[in-house]
Amino acid sequence: MTSTLILGGGFGGLAAAHELRARLPEHEVTVVAAEDHFYNGFAKTWDLVGARPLEQGTASLSALHRHGIRFVHTRITAIDPAHCRVETEAGPLSADFLVIALGANTPPEQTAQLRGSAHDLYSADALPAMRTDLARLDSGTLVVPVLGTPYKCPPAPYEAAFLLDDYLRGRGVRDQVQLLVTTPQPMTMPGAGSEVSTFVADALTDRGIQLRTEQSVQTIDPDARTVLFADGDRLPYTLLLAVPQAVAPQVVADSPLAGEGGWIHPDRETRRTDFDRVYAVGDCTASPPPKAGIFAEGMARVAARNIAAEVDGGQGDRFDGTGYCFLEFPEQRAATLEGNFFAEPKPDVRMAEPDTDTFTRKHAFEAERLRNWLDATPT
Ligand SMILES: Cc1cc2nc3c(=O)[nH]c(=O)nc-3n(C[C@H](O)[C@H](O)[C@H](O)COP(=O)(O)OP(=O)(O)OC[C@H]3O[C@@H](n4cnc5c(N)ncnc54)[C@H](O)[C@@H]3O)c2cc1C
Repeated sequence: MTSTLILGGGFGGLAAAHELRARLPEHEVTVVAAEDHFYNGFAKTWDLVGARPLEQGTASLSALHRHGIRFVHTRITAIDPAHCRVETEAGPLSADFLVIALGANTPPEQTAQLRGSAHDLYSADALPAMRTDLARLDSGTLVVPVLGTPYKCPPAPYEAAFLLDDYLRGRGVRDQVQLLVTTPQPMTMPGAGSEVSTFVADALTDRGIQLRTEQSVQTIDPDARTVLFADGDRLPYTLLLAVPQAVAPQVVADSPLAGEGGWIHPDRETRRTDFDRVYAVGDCTASPPPKAGIFAEGMARVAARNIAAEVDGGQGDRFDGTGYCFLEFPEQRAATLEGNFFAEPKPDVRMAEPDTDTFTRKHAFEAERLRNWLDATPT
């Protein structure tokens, strides 16, 4: 019997596992992940603003066994792609094929600066403290700084700002709180182009949310509650919810698979790496496309189909760089940013007007993945 070891149980890992299961009924499929559960990233922001507790959008990876997929809950400590083998805290594991879907991490030096009233907006662990600080915020300055690029989900900082704006209005304190988003980039979403970026910038302005572009954070001083920017500007804050830079997981950066920046650079269409029978998908690989679940999922299906083709001699597949992301706006509206991120000379991305139907589609997107992958229903 042939076998595949899937490293990671997030968007990429779960999509690859189910696609392989469907294509190769006799093939052994194992998912290895350090976390034993899955949720959509945006569910953390919903929890933060009181829309829905994160637990209600979280599913256990233990459900995988009902689909004939083995789940090993452990941390991977080394990857040996030449032998399709990994070292883990539970001992070595090996298979005929590897799919690497280990996501991206926050740089430790950024984590070290995020304490007191400065939090990692993307961290589920930080949610209780963030919620407490947010509930106490009656006046002052709430800043959402993007700490570096690339970062996960390009629309997420702006989406968070819109939801925070709604939340503060709901509490009747919005007039007393200055809300700012800062980014080192020249516009809100350069990858999506200037038209989309201007639309988002105008929507921020309409809600009285300040946007500061080309502002690189140099340091955060959590004791003085001040952000120092590279141009020497200082910004005092009351509460800071930072969007961390994404870096390759250490176990990837330390492996023979690591290329420029520590990321894996597989063939962008087939997702094959330089090592035989080793594929890489999702946030742990070099962009484009942007670091988003929908792309991790698309790449993972392609990798799984190409493994199936290697096993049974069938037709392989190619990832074409297309996909869409949701951007949530105030008052339960959302828009999709849809396009081809491999288009030349630049990505071809369009955004529709935000509406309530797309907000409903975003909920359906979450529900579909939880149900199809892990038999769970968000409540
Ligand atoms: C606030 C927020 C909002 C977002 N909104 C959206 C959105 O609307 N649409 C969208 O498409 N994307 C969105 N994203 C981005 C999306 O969550 C990620 O891009 C996506 O999860 C990447 O999938 P992945 O499979 O590459 O990695 P992940 O889903 O991060 O999975 C990585 C897996 O690897 C495992 N792992 C890591 N290191 C180890 C190790 N050493 N040993 C064992 N296991 C390990 C982890 O446990 C995890 O199971 C959002 C993200 C955030 C933070």
